[in-house]
Amino acid sequence: MWVAVLGVLCLLTNSLALPLPPEAGGMNEQQWKQAQDYLQRFYSRDSNARDDNSLRDKLKEMQKFFSLPITGILSSRVMEIMQKSRCGVPDVLEYSLFPGHPKWTSKVVTYRVDSYTRDLSRSTVDRLVTKALKIWGNEIPLKFRRFNWGKADIKIGFARGAHGDIYPFDGPGNTLAHAFAPGKDIGGDAHFDEDERWTDGSKIGINFLYTATHEFGHSLGLGHSTNPNAVMFPTYGVGDPKTFKLSQDDIRGIQRIYGNVYNFK
Ligand SMILES: [Zn+2]
Ligand SMILES: [Zn+2]
Repeated sequence: MWVAVLGVLCLLTNSLALPLPPEAGGMNEQQWKQAQDYLQRFYSRDSNARDDNSLRDKLKEMQKFFSLPITGILSSRVMEIMQKSRCGVPDVLEYSLFPGHPKWTSKVVTYRVDSYTRDLSRSTVDRLVTKALKIWGNEIPLKFRRFNWGKADIKIGFARGAHGDIYPFDGPGNTLAHAFAPGKDIGGDAHFDEDERWTDGSKIGINFLYTATHEFGHSLGLGHSTNPNAVMFPTYGVGDPKTFKLSQDDIRGIQRIYGNVYNFK
């Protein structure tokens, strides 16, 4: 009897399953679900907009961002990009997280490491944080000063899962870190997913210096770049992170906000 009832239920469920929209491009339901989550997270202009009608537009926007054919239809190339490790900050951020192009207005910006990872020694984290900020500081008339305690502009920390803001981390892979635009309180802060394997090298795990440099770009007011050679490109993993440097695109971006070092008085 139970078997029969279950059989009927299964039939009902199958017949109720909605066919996937043409945007799904022949992908299976799980892939379509994954794609929708990605587009809502990284291509929503309004955090309240959960409007499925605009998914096609979001997909087109993503395809444009990654220089793919703009079809509005899912493809294996799109799915491949969606599975890459990346920064948690949306790619359409001028409309969401960073309205009004905020920047630090003082000439000295303070920073503090609030919490550490178990993957690297404290001194390594401190050294790499300082180095990552210096990579930007070399190009602009802004100085960084480290605080060991007290209130700092940029607070840096490692956390897993939900960690007090509205952007919980997601376990190993996918979202690696995120940071907030210049401002009070959480403004400028950079958070790194402790579920990643952080490294000072380039073979296994996620290179902390590279990721920190990217996140501090956000802490200084930069959004994502569509240039795959830029440190501000949203997906992780181009070239050797040990020898990376800012691209012309990154330098142009940061100097557009702060001017260049030659203007420093
Ligand atoms: Zn980012
Ligand atoms: Zn966070």
